[in-house]
Amino acid sequence: MSQKEIERLFSELDTSVQLLQKELGVSYLEGLSETGENIVDGRKVAQDSDRLSDQAVKVLTSLYQKLPLNKMDSEEIRKSFQLALLKGAKSDQVQANHQMTPDAIGFILAYLIEKVIDADIKKIRLLDPAIGTGNLLSTVYNSLTLKKIEVEVEGIDNDDLLLSLALINFELQGQKLKLTHQDALTDLLLDPVDVVVSDLPVGFYPIDENAKRFKTSSNEGHSYAHHLFIEQSIYYLKDSGYGVFLVPTQLFESKESAALTKMIQSEAFLQGMLHLPKELFKSEQSRKSILLVQKKGGKAKQAKQVLLAQIPDFKNQTSMQHFMQEVENWKQENIKI
Ligand code: SAM
Repeated sequence: MSQKEIERLFSELDTSVQLLQKELGVSYLEGLSETGENIVDGRKVAQDSDRLSDQAVKVLTSLYQKLPLNKMDSEEIRKSFQLALLKGAKSDQVQANHQMTPDAIGFILAYLIEKVIDADIKKIRLLDPAIGTGNLLSTVYNSLTLKKIEVEVEGIDNDDLLLSLALINFELQGQKLKLTHQDALTDLLLDPVDVVVSDLPVGFYPIDENAKRFKTSSNEGHSYAHHLFIEQSIYYLKDSGYGVFLVPTQLFESKESAALTKMIQSEAFLQGMLHLPKELFKSEQSRKSILLVQKKGGKAKQAKQVLLAQIPDFKNQTSMQHFMQEVENWKQENIKI
């Protein structure tokens, strides 16, 4: 992977965003969405560009023509775009629940998905119902396609700016995906998928009327969005499909968790809970873990032993290798059919 090209593309994106910000008074992420649309629409400034000065149109057009996209592979482009997303999250002060999933976590989720799906699978349908900027889904997508698996990919989000960034993220890499701008906790027009992967929004879901139809809704007051998302995702999985979710480490510790446990037990098998290294999070409260569930039906069966693991510090290579061996052993003894 060429770090130089990654930084060069980021720097060109950044220059164009700053120019658009100056001309239009938009936020960084709005500027990134506008410049991204220009690039994927044939590397030209949008027709309604009378909002921009002639000089700006000239600078942008020349900059778009010189972008090194053709020389870069998907992962390089994703990483450049991710640097721009990171800068945007910082300068626009994006709230925690809307922040992009960092690569380190995306790689671990992708690794787990590769481990649990059938070794001889050639094609899968993959969904992220809270796709955000698409960084997590794109990391998983690229990792699966590298393994020669054909991936049909869908994303949902109720934030239109993030959704447009997700579209650009994939289109810059020359990839197609189906996106829906919708509250993912309402009825979805979606064929069942093999895998749901998601960094779930955490906290209360404000629309009690929608929450009511879920088994995980609260009897009084608002329900937890992340509980409802897990239930909704299981509903749209194929039989024996997997849900791989980034969740708060204390998921099963709140008083509302009884209904969540009951719902999972009736619809799926809880196959694993892996705790991410605490160094990745600012506080004990904000710590996250990975929940692995498998929908009942088909060849699915409860693992003899649930995969409970503490993921080591990513920088410690020996401990990481040990962890991967632990997952491999668990797979051989519990998942392999
Ligand atoms: N994985 C994403 C990425 O890499 O950018 C980040 C996901 S972010 C932690 C959670 C996302 O959930 C946000 O993009 C937010 O807009 C979305 N969200 C929150 N409530 C939602 C709802 N009811 N329906 C759909 N999306 C929702």
